Amino acid sequence: MKRLNIKKAFSVCLVIVLLSMLTACNGNTLTKDATSKEGANKFTIVTSFYPIYIAALNVAKDIEGVEVINMTEPITGCLHDYTISPKDMKTLEDAQVFVINGAGMESFMESVISQLKDLKIVEASKGIELIEGDGEIENNPHVWVSISNAITEVQNIESQLSAIDPSHSEAYKKNAKAYIQKLEEIRSKMHEALDNVSQKDIVTFHEAFPYFAKEFNLNIAGVVEREPGSEPSAKELGETVDQIKTLGIKALFAEPQYPKRAAEVIANETGAKVYTLDPAVTGPMEADAYIQIMTKNLEVLKEALK
Ligand SMILES: [Zn+2]
Repeated sequence: MKRLNIKKAFSVCLVIVLLSMLTACNGNTLTKDATSKEGANKFTIVTSFYPIYIAALNVAKDIEGVEVINMTEPITGCLHDYTISPKDMKTLEDAQVFVINGAGMESFMESVISQLKDLKIVEASKGIELIEGDGEIENNPHVWVSISNAITEVQNIESQLSAIDPSHSEAYKKNAKAYIQKLEEIRSKMHEALDNVSQKDIVTFHEAFPYFAKEFNLNIAGVVEREPGSEPSAKELGETVDQIKTLGIKALFAEPQYPKRAAEVIANETGAKVYTLDPAVTGPMEADAYIQIMTKNLEVLKEALK
C-alpha cells in the first residue's frame, strides 16, 4: 500500500515538472517574439500602389524586422489624379521609406516631400526610357506592364533600399535575384509565344499597354477608352470601328478593371472578339501575383492572336 502511494506521488510530481517545463518553454518563446516585433530595429517600407507593392514585397519579403505596407487599397488601381488623404499621410509618417513608381504616376509627391522631410523616397522607374503620354500627360507612367521594365524596377528598388538600409542589403539582393530569375523566365515564355505571331495589331482599353506592346513588337492600333470616366463619344467609337475594319483586327483587349460596354459595342459592329488583358494595377496582395497575371495574359494573347 505504502509503496503504491509513493509511486503515485512520484507520477504526479513528474507530470507537474513536465508541465512546468512546457509552460516555461512557451513563455520564453512568447517573450522572444514580442521583443523582436516591438524592437527598435523595425524598418517600414510603404509603397504607393499595387504593382509597386508587389515588386517591393518580393525584394523585402521574409526579412525579420522589415515590413512592406501598401498606402492605397489594392482596388485603387492607377493613381492618376489621386488625392493623398490624411490617413495616407499618417501611414507615411510611420514609415522609413516610400517606394513610388515615379514617371509622373504619383502627382501628389510635392506635398509629401514638403511635409515629411525625413522620409526617404525610392523611385522604381529611375532610368527607364519613357514613352510619350497622350493628351495632357507628359509621359506614359505604366512602365511595369513591360516585364523588362518590371525587372529594372525591382533592381532599382533593391539598390536604393540597400543604400538606405545597408543592414538588410544582403537579404534584399538575394530576394531580388530570385524574383528577377522568375521574371526572366516568364519573359522568355512570352517571347517564344509572341515573337512569331503574324497578327501584331491589337486594340486595347486604357493607355496601359504601350510598354508591353513595345517589348513584344505588338502594334496598338487603337485605344478604346483611356481612363476611367472618359467614355468614348459616339464619334470616337465610330472612328475606332472604322479603324478596326480597315486594319482587319480580330481581337479587342479590355481590362478587368473597366466596363466592357464600349468594347462590346465595337465587337458587335466589327465582329472582332473581346478578350481581357490585365495591366496588373489591381490583384491579390501576394508576391507571385504579377507573374500569375502575366502568365494569364500570355494565355489570352496566344488564344487571341493565333
Ligand atoms: Zn493608368
